[in-house]
Amino acid sequence: MPTPSFRLYNTLTGQTDPVEPAEPQHLRFYACGPTVYSYAHIGNFRSFVTADLIARTAEAIGWDVTFVSNITDVGHLTEDDVADAGGEDKMAKALRKEGQRFANVWDLARYFSDALITDWRALNLREPDVRPRATEHMQQQIQAVAALQEKGIAYETEKGVYFAVEQFPAYGKLSGNQAAEALAEGAAGQGRTTVQDPEKRDPRDFALWKKDAKHLMQWHSPWGWGFPGWHIECSVMATEYLGEQIDLHAGGEDLIFPHHECEIAQAESLTGKPFAKHWVHTRFLQVEGEKMSKSTGNFFTVRELIASEDEGGRGISPLALRMTLLSGQYRKPFNFTFDKLRDNAHHIQRIETVIQRVDAALQANAEGDDFVGERLDGLYERALQAMLDDLNTPEALAATIEGVKLLQGVGDELSGASAQSARQWLDKINDLLGIIRPQTEGEIADDATADPLAEKVEALLDERAEARASGRYDRADEIRALLDEMGIEVMDSSDGTTWRRKVSV
Ligand SMILES: [Zn+2]
Repeated sequence: MPTPSFRLYNTLTGQTDPVEPAEPQHLRFYACGPTVYSYAHIGNFRSFVTADLIARTAEAIGWDVTFVSNITDVGHLTEDDVADAGGEDKMAKALRKEGQRFANVWDLARYFSDALITDWRALNLREPDVRPRATEHMQQQIQAVAALQEKGIAYETEKGVYFAVEQFPAYGKLSGNQAAEALAEGAAGQGRTTVQDPEKRDPRDFALWKKDAKHLMQWHSPWGWGFPGWHIECSVMATEYLGEQIDLHAGGEDLIFPHHECEIAQAESLTGKPFAKHWVHTRFLQVEGEKMSKSTGNFFTVRELIASEDEGGRGISPLALRMTLLSGQYRKPFNFTFDKLRDNAHHIQRIETVIQRVDAALQANAEGDDFVGERLDGLYERALQAMLDDLNTPEALAATIEGVKLLQGVGDELSGASAQSARQWLDKINDLLGIIRPQTEGEIADDATADPLAEKVEALLDERAEARASGRYDRADEIRALLDEMGIEVMDSSDGTTWRRKVSV
């Protein structure tokens, strides 16, 4: 059999290219992860699903996969649509808004990265082989900036260290943004709070390091206290875990410029070699035909869709949500609707019924020939070929639904041999698309968002409120002292009682 060809659209070449790992049959790739200042929304997850499907498809044809996806927990500023981002740090801004819940920015980052991992597992996303955090790779980032400075590609000003775009003539090759004005920082843009650094040599230059001794997360560097620019973390962590040249780099389409353009400039200036061969970008999604935005109320996090109604969520099955995200190919704009979600919830119910029948037939082990195996094999092949063809998920789902209908049509007549084939088919489809069954309890048992401390604090505060209400002030004081020992600061006001973790020193 000829080696199957896995083809994906490549933003760098503007065409659908075969994926060709440097080491044959071992795909090494990097996908940009989220900035952990809030729960990730369904648009973020659409691009994480693409990365998951790349890994699953490569594995389905027998390749090894090394998949790295980071967590951005520092340095991503609010005005990030220009190369030299400005504004406030997204994490610091979130802390200002959520100050009651978190003692400090580290606490907030940890909480939302745990939440991300829980949602990631709920949606059956393959765990990356490495999930590096920007804050845990500070020395490497500082070294990379210093190395660029030594090569004369970066320079220092009063405010920071900048990448000199003039030194990298290929800048713009990914995004096609060649015009100086398109690349320039948009300091003139409406409502921006950033003041351009007057010492910058070229408006296109972007910050590798920002000097800021007041920043909530800061590190000591050869340029004093401060924090790294957002782009440098991905260049550094991708090359650290995957080598100087990587097979593929993925992310949302909003990252093409400036983030990925800057990653290329940094990595290739440091190594002198082409960085990533294949660049894969997932298109935005809309909700009910409109741009997802908090102001119009059509903004959805995965968390609020899948949480139960008791917990204030919508109680949607994670598999139905995953199937809905798969129902549009990653490279086309996708309209997320609640009708689609309902349709897919029906499909998931059908799949569950089929699984029960297959399990029952396997138990009964009735005699008879295998009368579904051949057709199911054909349908699996159709699904696999669709995935190899630029992740054509709608076609892969159509083949899956046809197989499910076939098994439903057979009803209770499944022979033992047919049930065996059906089970194998369900397993293979699950490996390829991840929509047949949720991960087993053991895999998701360590629920990362469970916050035992918060639960305990709430219980003690309830008890304290009762004690106060019934005049048992000694007990109320005891509880307050206990909370103090636990590192919890209690704040009483006319609006009620709130609490927060004290900053640890
Ligand atoms: Zn990135």
